[in-house]
Amino acid sequence: MQTYSLIINGQKVAGEAGSFDVLNPANETVVAQCPQASTAQLDEAVAAAQACYESWQYSSHEARKQLLLDIADRIEANASELAQIVVEEQGKPMFLAQAEVGGAIAWTRATADLEMPVDVLEDTDTKRVEVHRKPLGVVGSITPWNWPLMIAVWHIMPAIRSGNTVVSKPSGLTPLNTLRLVEIINEVAPAGLVNIVTGESGIGSGMTKHQGIRKIVFTGSTPTGQTIMRGAADNLKRLTLELGGNDAGIVLPDADPAAIAEGIFQTSFLNMGQTCACLKRLYVHDSIYEEMCEKLAEVAVQQTLGNGLNEGVTFGPIQNKDQFNLVSELVEDARANGARILSGGEPLDGKGYFYPPTIVADISDGTRLVDEEQFGPVLPVIRYSDIDDAVKRANASDVGLGGSVWSADITKAAEIAGRLECGTAWINGHAELLPYAPFGGCKMSGFGVEFGQEGLMEYTSAQVININK
Ligand code: NAD
Repeated sequence: MQTYSLIINGQKVAGEAGSFDVLNPANETVVAQCPQASTAQLDEAVAAAQACYESWQYSSHEARKQLLLDIADRIEANASELAQIVVEEQGKPMFLAQAEVGGAIAWTRATADLEMPVDVLEDTDTKRVEVHRKPLGVVGSITPWNWPLMIAVWHIMPAIRSGNTVVSKPSGLTPLNTLRLVEIINEVAPAGLVNIVTGESGIGSGMTKHQGIRKIVFTGSTPTGQTIMRGAADNLKRLTLELGGNDAGIVLPDADPAAIAEGIFQTSFLNMGQTCACLKRLYVHDSIYEEMCEKLAEVAVQQTLGNGLNEGVTFGPIQNKDQFNLVSELVEDARANGARILSGGEPLDGKGYFYPPTIVADISDGTRLVDEEQFGPVLPVIRYSDIDDAVKRANASDVGLGGSVWSADITKAAEIAGRLECGTAWINGHAELLPYAPFGGCKMSGFGVEFGQEGLMEYTSAQVININK
């Protein structure tokens, strides 16, 4: 069994608070032991990051870009090992894990390419006013278990590109890929630039409250985001909070169910539905409701469930027991409330947290499966007859990450998409993230954005240089 270490100041170290098991969700066996950091080790990691920041903040843009390109090359050189770890601890099929590693490489290179120009607001004979973007200091990155490697990259790369240093804390459910990622980064990065401390008890909240950390970038659930925001108040940490969603999709009456079923299925069940911006509630016009349900169920039953390492598997397990229990509970609640289960609807027997892709019809708002984020392989399909009512129901949620409209009429779809309360609205698509487009949520899906120029600026503060010539 491979051993994993924390990385503090460029050194591999054992966890002072012991270690814990990381399970494979496909068979519930132990993949490896994860080191458990002590709070003293968190302090050491922050101190190392601060020491590195003293010089890194003044590094040239060329040096930072080159480092990111070197890191991307190192990730690429270790791509198959990283994908293997992701499958084993996260559960997704190999092709998706490979896509995750590919995305991590592409995002690292795209972040290297970003610029941090100086804005000149005034330049006259007597005066010049410039706006510079300055790094913040030590950034704490806290990541979830669904796309663990990709999200770690989304946090770490813009932080270091803009002159900050990092302490990373991955989810205790999927820490191994990020431990390996940070080890790989440290093959080419200066000591202390990127550190990693793993462990559940106290490390995340310790980071949130740490006086040496200037910003937290967090991706995870809304309740944890709220806790982090409270903890961050003491030293007024900057925050980027990418939180939960309950994305609605609306299918207009002119859409062709046969043509869009595959696209809707793939974006609802991406990563077994465990994706923040998955389509999580589907509103379908009455006139095509039955056909849409039927076509979705046809795609659902074609999936091959199994261990993601096995050839031909298209659908893996749910990542952990709690999430598996929540999905089972939401389906049972829907059934008890008279919903029709068109595919799946029961967990598989045997080891592993397997739950087949489940399409649920004859369900409406006010049911738990519609109102709550399921974050798993089950999609409620809701009937509507009036588009204004559908938009109102789509927006009747505390969260607002993404949304979509499916139609042959792009102009009409775009008008409706503009009325959705969410950070990204797709037309004839969903869940597609781009390295150059700002991504984030509104309402209780959080604040701040990631990606592109706007995402990079979140790791900086403005400094005005006011020159009287
Ligand atoms: P989670 O909030 O339970 O955990 C996320 C991380 O926070 C983990 O590393 C965890 O150890 C840490 N954590 C837990 N308690 C903490 C505390 N008190 N202080 C600091 N850190 C703490 O989320 P999860 O279950 O890992 O992920 C699923 C959720 O994440 C879903 O709601 C999903 O929608 C959301 N998510 C959002 C996005 C996005 O970009 N908006 C992306 C992926 C996932």
